[in-house]
Amino acid sequence: MISFRKKQEVIEPYSVEQCNSCNATKKRKFAKDDYVFKETGKCTSCNNGQMMIAKIYGEVLK
Ligand SMILES: [Zn+2]
Repeated sequence: MISFRKKQEVIEPYSVEQCNSCNATKKRKFAKDDYVFKETGKCTSCNNGQMMIAKIYGEVLK
C-alpha cells in the first residue's frame, strides 16, 4: 500500500485591505467573518476612502 502522506504544514491566513480612494493597502491577520470585498471601515491614510478586503491568502509558516 502506498501512502501519500504530506508533511504537516501550518498555514497562517492573512487579509489584505485596500482603500478605494488612495489605494493604500494594509495586511493583517485574517479575522473570523472576513471575506473579499467586505468593507472594513474608513481609511486611516487619507481619511476619505473606504477600506475593503481585496485579498485573503494563506502563508505557510516555516
Ligand atoms: Zn485612503
